[in-house]
Amino acid sequence: MAIKTVLGETQQVKIATDLIEMGARLQVLQEETSLSRERLLKLYKEVKGESPSKGMLPYSTDWFISWQPNIHSSLFMGIYQFLVKNAGTDGVHALITAYRLYLDQVQGIEGGEVVLSITRAWFLVRFFKAGMMQLVPCRECTGQFVTHTNELHSHYVCGICHPPARAGKTNSKTKLLQPVG
Ligand SMILES: [Zn+2]
Repeated sequence: MAIKTVLGETQQVKIATDLIEMGARLQVLQEETSLSRERLLKLYKEVKGESPSKGMLPYSTDWFISWQPNIHSSLFMGIYQFLVKNAGTDGVHALITAYRLYLDQVQGIEGGEVVLSITRAWFLVRFFKAGMMQLVPCRECTGQFVTHTNELHSHYVCGICHPPARAGKTNSKTKLLQPVG
């Protein structure tokens, strides 16, 4: 990507540091900067005081469709696409800015819990760019929600308008954003 060659090392370290502070996994840092793996590992330890997790990355698109993650993913993706469209920002800068705004939104809600990690947000952007996922409007509230692209959505109703039974019958977003069970 062009952005890697254009950005100076100081900017790359800044991007990596921002992503590490947000909790990004090492693979995200490697993809979004041209800093060496050794450099990134050192930086990670400096920022977090520990080595990055070596567990499996969350590759599945299905997670974004499940009820509570879908509400959070849709909120993030709405912000991301707005930024790309209207603020002339793209790439990793759009990811970082959109994720900050997502955190602000969730933390501004009483009892709001951050459900979407920065690594999942990064994957979500990739899935959109690959044409695997899209935003479709809910026919009841007209909000835009994340769905798979290979499904029919002409009568789509979102998880806020029709929450699953276990989520209770309230339409309050405050309640919906609280942990379930
Ligand atoms: Zn709806």
